Amino acid sequence: MTAGVLDGRRVLVTGASSGIGEATVRACAAAGARVAGLARRTQRLRVLADEVGAAAVTADVTDAGSARAGVDEAAAALGGLDAVVNNAGALSVATVAEGDPEDWKRMLDVNVFGLLVITQAALPHLRSAGRGDVVNMSSMSGRRVPNAASGVYAATKHAVHAITEGLRRELHPDGIRVSVVAPGLVATDLAAGAPATAARDRLAGLQADIGLAPADVARQIVRILSEPPHVAVHEVALLPTDQG
Ligand code: NDP
Repeated sequence: MTAGVLDGRRVLVTGASSGIGEATVRACAAAGARVAGLARRTQRLRVLADEVGAAAVTADVTDAGSARAGVDEAAAALGGLDAVVNNAGALSVATVAEGDPEDWKRMLDVNVFGLLVITQAALPHLRSAGRGDVVNMSSMSGRRVPNAASGVYAATKHAVHAITEGLRRELHPDGIRVSVVAPGLVATDLAAGAPATAARDRLAGLQADIGLAPADVARQIVRILSEPPHVAVHEVALLPTDQG
């Protein structure tokens, strides 16, 4: 249905080795874009890239040098960049009393620092394209704190909304649109891969039972990118109907 709507666009997706990022690579490629997927797990990226004709870029968004090199590698592979989807994310579900400071740091590093450094590195490429899109992956936890074990994750996603708003003001003169996507539960390995707590187990169960498919979120990203240049989608929030 969306075939061709991204013809000619050059899209970098971070966190492309699984879940929503992998689905976004697939959806953008199916819509006609040239796509680069960035993450740390090279082998998974390569399998995906071979399957859909994308470029695979191994990089760690928490390392500024690695992130910058990854963005430049993606731009070289695609002949420039029109869009960046900042999707890479990390989760830990624990109260402050039971939380591990290393997990707080990891979430801040991936969800906030990584998004910033990838965006900064992408700006020269987007500017030289003359127009562009930055799409930032937040969460319903970017607007509210769902439970006592989600405060720190929610803080990182609230930061994504604030950074999105600042970037929108900063990049408006360049014709670069900045959007935020805020899903509820999505059936991915995000919670299952998080440090074990009782709240983590509940969340992983809910994601598996009623979560949206990653492709449901990817479809929104294709829609944002395929809007005509005079239409800027600021925010898309979507939940599984059963989440309530
Ligand atoms: P996944 O765990 O499947 O995907 C996370 C992705 O982030 C992986 O590709 C991982 O790749 C990448 N990543 C993690 N750390 C780094 C790093 N240091 N450098 C580069 N890439 C990294 O989970 P989801 O698909 O669910 O998560 C994607 C986004 O969606 C996240 O931002 C998450 O917060 C958000 N989200 C998820 C929801 C859900 O219910 N699942 C709900 C709302 C938002 P690798 O390990 O190979 O580096």
